[in-house]
Amino acid sequence: MKAIRFHAHGGPEVLRLEEVPDPVIGPGEALVRVRACALNHLDLWQRRGLRRVAIPLPHISGSDVAGVVVGSTGSNLPAGLRVMVQPGISCGRCLACLSGADNECPDYEVLGYRNHPGGYAELTKVPVQNLVPLPDSVSFVDAAAFPLTFVTAWHMLVTRAQLQRGEDILVLAAGSGVGQAAVQVARLIGARVIATAGSDAKLERARALGAVEGINHHTQDIAEEVKRLTGRRGVDVVVEHVGAATWAKSIRSLARNGRLVTCGATTGGDVGIDVLALFSKRLSILGSYMGTKAELVRAAGHFFAGDLRPAIDRTYPLADAAAAQQRLEESGQFGKIVLEV
Ligand code: ZN
Repeated sequence: MKAIRFHAHGGPEVLRLEEVPDPVIGPGEALVRVRACALNHLDLWQRRGLRRVAIPLPHISGSDVAGVVVGSTGSNLPAGLRVMVQPGISCGRCLACLSGADNECPDYEVLGYRNHPGGYAELTKVPVQNLVPLPDSVSFVDAAAFPLTFVTAWHMLVTRAQLQRGEDILVLAAGSGVGQAAVQVARLIGARVIATAGSDAKLERARALGAVEGINHHTQDIAEEVKRLTGRRGVDVVVEHVGAATWAKSIRSLARNGRLVTCGATTGGDVGIDVLALFSKRLSILGSYMGTKAELVRAAGHFFAGDLRPAIDRTYPLADAAAAQQRLEESGQFGKIVLEV
């Protein structure tokens, strides 16, 4: 099969289109013909090289896959079934997995990261329990753009922050993958969404997804605007995934008893914490990582019913993966960048 691999860490130029052996499935696995694969920041970090995580080289990235089942072992899934793939791979036997908290499995891995070659390829293999059948009405591009960001947003808002109807929520960088998903999940719950983005055009798109207020984080002060928009009260929940560049403003934007939920730190993880604000305002800081298979299936129900729909920025052919990653690196996008295979 053809695949995009990197043999050394570096810029987008290390990505190479190559002929590589087809994956061989083991017990309980399915072979999937990839039709679309969405990009995530994880793809960039592993390509550049990580301080604490060794990536076996050469490596095939790609965590968000939609495609067609070619065959499987130990299941009766028909060949030709259209599927999207849950990116979280877990053992299925430990207490966390058996309790339905498979994202807390000690052996948790993500497709396209470390030991699991991903979807920048014509074929990939995954455990059969990671397959979610697709209705005919959902395209492969939309399906590939859904799993990682929506399961992450669902876990952050529904499970960790327990966002309630009528609450105020601030979603940072609404044009990012997690941002556009969080705006939509919050709107679905019935919260009032304030979104930030780096341009007025992106804020328009965030409003179309369900944000009622927008803050241009290049020209306006996030915390001051939040105070103005909430009558000095602040928001009940902040969706953080930016880190060092926004953390202090996120804390200042919270109302009493507010919850900050974070799933990432694209600008760096070393944030100062104002403990005075933390205790005097009774704030909660909640960490969140991926989400469970059950949460993805639940969110997918809303996706298939048309209530959630991933924002697609642009698609590229597989061979242009380097240009696609370059676009994600430059943060010009609104929504998901997807490779068509
Ligand atoms: Zn497990």
